[in-house]
Formats: sequence, structure tokens, C-alpha cells
Amino acid sequence: MGCDPAVPMVNLSLQYEEIRDEIDSAVLGVLEGGRFILGPEEKAFENEFALYTGVEHGIGVASGTDALFLVMRALGLGAGDEVLTTTFSFIATADSIARCGATPVLADIEPLTFNLDPGSMLERLTPRTKAIIAVHLYGHPADMDRIGEIAGSRGIFLIEDCAQAHGATLKGRKVGTFGTAAAFSFFPTKPLGGAGDGGMVCTNDPRLAERVRMLRAHGAGEKYIHEALGVNSRLDELQAALLRVKLGSLDRWNEARRTVAAIYGSGLEGVQTPFVAPGVEHVYHQYTVRTDRRDELKRELDVAGVGSNIYYPVPIHLQPCFKYLGYSAGDLPVSEKASKEVVSLPMYYGITPEQTHRVCEAVNEALA
Ligand SMILES: *Cc1c(COP(=O)(O)O)cnc(C)c1O
Repeated sequence: MGCDPAVPMVNLSLQYEEIRDEIDSAVLGVLEGGRFILGPEEKAFENEFALYTGVEHGIGVASGTDALFLVMRALGLGAGDEVLTTTFSFIATADSIARCGATPVLADIEPLTFNLDPGSMLERLTPRTKAIIAVHLYGHPADMDRIGEIAGSRGIFLIEDCAQAHGATLKGRKVGTFGTAAAFSFFPTKPLGGAGDGGMVCTNDPRLAERVRMLRAHGAGEKYIHEALGVNSRLDELQAALLRVKLGSLDRWNEARRTVAAIYGSGLEGVQTPFVAPGVEHVYHQYTVRTDRRDELKRELDVAGVGSNIYYPVPIHLQPCFKYLGYSAGDLPVSEKASKEVVSLPMYYGITPEQTHRVCEAVNEALA
């Protein structure tokens, strides 16, 4: 293994290997207990993750996508409402808006952080704008001071999409605490990932929390009395038990990725390395570099056996499923340019310094 020149994009088994005994006994405990949905592990994980994030309420759901959808449903958003968000994100940020019946309105990004540009947002606000979804892309917090100001001064709901940013902070405050509510994903590759799908809604609003709790279980308040049309979207006991164990390592694993980022930062040449805004603690869900020779670089890395991925090659406003929104190429130029220039490099807990150096060499050789 030591001299294998290949470096994978991600390797999740290293997390498991490190805390195998604890995970095994947590998972076996659920199997032996025979309780699989809405049981004690889920309840405990909701409390522990809410405490970790610094909010009053956590509600476990089946995915990050459902967390976004259920927040908007619980806020009563639907037909005729507009929800403003970034075009440079995973599709779930916007498709959950459409699934609620509301209209996604897409804004451009800041070129350095790849996050929502408050100026572009202001141009797209209308009297129908009911909510803003800020995404902390790649694990770097969005500009929550200015975005919060825009939402707050107009009485618009602010929702955080924290799917890539568990534990990231801005001026010492964790993401997930800035808005009306936040959505987290526990998809396996996210900073805190399960062995399958999972998600959580975080909020300080007790009524919103109750509403999400009801909607995730077919809209039932009292058992078999259905107050509203809900969905079936729960975080199961096996995932919750595993996530409880992994939560204990999250800060350490985030720190380890920052160490890898520091090696990349000093070893890479010829690419723009990630910007970190003042007061930000980045968690590097992705380590994303930028170059106008991106396609060539990606090809060379493939040949060298070095993993890489493009997040995201097509901004949301140009996705076929959103053709009906009427955007054209050129409408959100900063995001369109980014989508042609970004490439993410191997970044995961347990990547060795040797592998990290190998990635730097491969990038530097490709662009030399
Ligand atoms: C992963 C992700 C989601 C969706 O989470 P799932 O758990 O996969 O449904 C939403 N938004 C962003 C930015 C993501 O990266």
C-alpha cells in the first residue's frame, strides 16, 4: 500500500476502522433491542446533535433533502411564494423548494467563497420572496451577517443548508444557529455521515420544531390523528446509533481535514486554493481549487490515478429540470465561470501526508 501511487477521492472505511468497536456495539445494541424507528437512539442523537450545534431542537429525518423540504412545509411555504437561494449548490437545495410548490429564485455567488453574493440577492428580492436558503458550500460558512441583515430587515425566513458544514464556525458561532432553521445531511460522505441516508432539522423555535416533528410522521400529532398531510421521513435507529458514536469524533476529523488543507495550501502551485474569510473555521467537506485549465488538470489527474471530482459542473439555473424557470446562459456569470474552473481534490479523514504530497505533485506536474 505504501508505494501505491493512486489516491482515491474519498475513503470512508478509515473512519470505521478507527472506532470499529464502539460502532459495532452501538449497531448490535439496536439489533438486539429490536426497536428500529423513532426509538431511544434517535431521541438521544437529536438531543446530542442539537447540543453540539448550539440549538434547542433537533428533529431527525430521512435525508438532508427532506430536512430542507420539511422546514419549508412547516413554514407554510407553497404556491405563489418565492425562495431565494444560490445557483451554485447541489440540486437538492433548489428542488426541495419546487417540491413544496414554491418557486426557486436563483442568485449568483461571490467568486472567492463560492457562497451567495448578498448584492446578487438584493437584485432578485421581490414582494413574493418569503425565504432565503443560504448554503455553506464545501464547508465554508456563507456571509451570515449580511444575509441575516437582508432577511431580518424584511421579515423573510432564513434557512441554512448545512449539508456540507457540520461544525463549521463563523466568529466562533456554529452554522445552523443563524437562521429560522437549518437542514443537515448525514449522507455518508458529509462531514458527519451515516451508513446510508439521514438528515436533521435544527431550530430554536419550539413551534416550528413541533410542526416538523408532526410532518415527518404523516402529519400525526396524536397517534393516528392526522392534523396535516405529511410524509414518512424518519432517521432510523441504526443510523442514529452509529451517528451518536461518530459525533464524538467530528471535531477531531474536521481538524484533521484542516491539517490536510494546510499541506495542500503550501504544496500546490498554479491553482487558486480555497479562500478562508476572516473569522471562519472551514471544515473542508471539499477541498476545491480553481484554474482556467480545469478540464486538462482533471484529465491528467485521472491518468495519474489521483481522485478528483467537479462540484458542480452545471449551475442550478441551467439544469434541464429548471428550464421552466426561464434562465439562460449568461444570467449568473460568476457561478457559470466557477462551474468551468473548479475541481475538488482528495479530502477525507485518514488521507496520509504522503498521499497528500502525491496529490500536490500530480497537480503541479499537470500544470507545469
Ligand atoms: C448533500 C446535500 C444536500 C442533500 O442532502 P441528502 O442527505 O443527500 O438528501 C442538500 N444540500 C447540499 C448543499 C448538499 O451537499
